[in-house]
Amino acid sequence: MIPYGKHNVTWGDALRVLWQIRFRSLTQGAQIEKFEQEVAKAVGAKYAVAVSSATAGLHLAALVLKLPQGSKVITSPISFVASSNSLLYAGYKPEFLDIDPDTLNVDLELIKTRVELDNEIKAVLPVHFAGLPCDMESIKEIALKHDLRIIEDAAHALGAEYSNGTKVGSCTYSDMTVLSFHPVKTITTGEGGMVTTNDFELYKNLLRLRSHGINKLDDDFQDLILSKTANETNPWYYEMIELGFNYRMTEIQAVLGINQLKRLDKFMKKRLSRVKKYSKLLNDVIGINLAQNFDFKTSANHILPVRIDFSNLKISRATLMSSLRSNGVGSQVHYIPIPLHPYYKSLGYNIVNLPHAVAYYQECLSLPLFPDLSNSEQKKVVREISRLLRN
Ligand SMILES: *Cc1c(COP(=O)(O)O)cnc(C)c1O
Repeated sequence: MIPYGKHNVTWGDALRVLWQIRFRSLTQGAQIEKFEQEVAKAVGAKYAVAVSSATAGLHLAALVLKLPQGSKVITSPISFVASSNSLLYAGYKPEFLDIDPDTLNVDLELIKTRVELDNEIKAVLPVHFAGLPCDMESIKEIALKHDLRIIEDAAHALGAEYSNGTKVGSCTYSDMTVLSFHPVKTITTGEGGMVTTNDFELYKNLLRLRSHGINKLDDDFQDLILSKTANETNPWYYEMIELGFNYRMTEIQAVLGINQLKRLDKFMKKRLSRVKKYSKLLNDVIGINLAQNFDFKTSANHILPVRIDFSNLKISRATLMSSLRSNGVGSQVHYIPIPLHPYYKSLGYNIVNLPHAVAYYQECLSLPLFPDLSNSEQKKVVREISRLLRN
């Protein structure tokens, strides 16, 4: 079976993890900090906070913005539910705007007109779909004009670059960027995520909320009596100063992440070469098109979404997926538009103003794409799909 996505874990990674478990710390040790520093360096951000998942990271990022309850935040309907869920956790209201059918990222023009009309919008949570960076320069420009905060959901986009050559994660255009290390993403720690930022206050708040809301770094102690004995700080003393969580990453995950990060460039090169190859091979298959129009080099090439006009074919997507599967080829649909989920419907969301998202959903399929996808496997994928589409 060729899966749609697959991690790359070497014996080197495995042995490093084994060494850590047998001889070193399991949580709250030096490896987390090392992993944070190396990710920050790799993407060009000042600070990074490792967390138990990107979902946890998005939650904390939403919280530390400290927007008023009920604030509206613009995001994409074509994403994993975690993007907008994080806004709900924090008491904000996700506002889904339609996607640009060329990039599959939220439509810039719609952001512009929407913020002109609605001054309850306080932030934007753009998603770099399939690893293709949003036009952050323009989003930042809009945000400056309307005093909006920006959190990038870069779960797909570690390794991607903006058009000016800076890296996704550098927060060149945002307050915070959230990365995911789930096994299908660019690098993995099993489960895990990272929030990057250049803002020291945000950084400190993220660290505090990651670990129960207990004071960190230069937080002053609030209780001057309990905290001291004869003017010296008590050695056992700590204070919980806000309601936080246990969203920590383990040291076991961090050492895996450190090892994986060393191969980031290699993973990027391999993904890029597979996408270029797909672009050539699929050119000859009638009825199927790459779903995004872009320069592959700027994308992290996280998944390979294609569009197939099923309304003009005898085969349905369900039959195509099952037939591919029984012939050893995995595929997936990224994504069901978030407002279509029963929970979101129950909150009153609908897809009335999202025609491009709906059209994309009806035609999309993600084909296998991962660093170890071989030439012959890739040819098999294209052979099987073209055979099924022709019949
Ligand atoms: C995977 C993903 C997430 C959540 O990442 P986890 O690390 O699994 O919590 C969030 N947003 C997007 C767009 C994703 O693809």
